[in-house]
Amino acid sequence: MRLYDTATGGLVPFVAGHTVRVYVCGITPYDASHLGHAFTYSCFDALVRYLEHAGHRVRYARNVTDVDDDILRRARELGVDYLDLAGRETARFDRDLAGLGLRAPDTTPRATAAVPAIVAAIEGLLRRGAAYALDDGRVYFDTGSAPGFGALSGLDRPAMLREFAEKGGDPEAGGKRDALDFLLWQPSAADEPSWPSPWGRGRPGWHIECSVMAMEQLGGVIDIHGGGLDLVFPHHEAEIVQAEELTGQRPFARLWLHAGMVALDDAKMAKSRGNLVFITDLLECYEGAAVRRYLLEHHYRSTWTYADAGLDDAAAAYKRWVEAAGGTGRRDDLRAAFHAAMADDLDTPAALAVLDEAARDGAGATLRELAAVLGFDLPDG
Ligand SMILES: [Zn+2]
Repeated sequence: MRLYDTATGGLVPFVAGHTVRVYVCGITPYDASHLGHAFTYSCFDALVRYLEHAGHRVRYARNVTDVDDDILRRARELGVDYLDLAGRETARFDRDLAGLGLRAPDTTPRATAAVPAIVAAIEGLLRRGAAYALDDGRVYFDTGSAPGFGALSGLDRPAMLREFAEKGGDPEAGGKRDALDFLLWQPSAADEPSWPSPWGRGRPGWHIECSVMAMEQLGGVIDIHGGGLDLVFPHHEAEIVQAEELTGQRPFARLWLHAGMVALDDAKMAKSRGNLVFITDLLECYEGAAVRRYLLEHHYRSTWTYADAGLDDAAAAYKRWVEAAGGTGRRDDLRAAFHAAMADDLDTPAALAVLDEAARDGAGATLRELAAVLGFDLPDG
């Protein structure tokens, strides 16, 4: 199988061992999940299912960022406890993804449960000279100590500074050695949750949470690390330098896989823009399997625009699968074409086209068999 590795910027052979350790960055549960989330996790679902079908044992971890600026701000607005908000939104997210028919991860670590390990990791970074603590309780990663910072995204320094500021970094914060140094620990405001640490009570930064949860769940070197394309910089860059500094092992992830963004009306779907299509709303009008088929009609690396008409077409195509699945015809050439498409950088649009051909051609048995690889459970009569 070959996959597109963000780190090398090209298609690379992915040689999987008996066990494949996959970590995909999860959500910050403070609002309803939208089609962008559904796309990312449907793509990784297809990958995990395909690897399992090929005989590998996959250990799939997807975290929950249940303490973070966004969630604390939202809990404050709603006048609720942040953990109640996180619990409610996580349950809704799980329901949405189950409604789409996604395989649940093997483990869903929560940041708040990992804080003692995060504190220990920050202490380790300080001991190694890769971080520094300020008198006010902030601790920063020293990007000057990590020449590899920036290698994953390939961004030059002006571009890194721009994205860092856009994505809630703090390039202008006082006391930092370098504008790109990122927070590992920060003191909590009076109404925010806090944990004890050698630097006073506070809470962790987002990036160190994922490094620590990935290492706790999967070990120091993982096979595939994934997430949405918007996480490449600075989140995944930060994860790499933290983990590699802590373990001394390189690379932290053998392969970096990123899903494209979903747009609505020519703008990336984002809470800040309010242009969201919610999974819950779609599941009221469409079968989950039809929505998932629609998502997988787009290659995981593509950035695409949602359209009602496209979803209607996908639902009609899914209905044709269901109608054709009772047939007994077999087509070995279609089976080969399906597997070739999946092995070629997870080309789900081509794989679905093969299923459509099987449906048109009366190859019901082959259709059922191949649809099942992707988790579509078609009736056999
Ligand atoms: Zn993450």
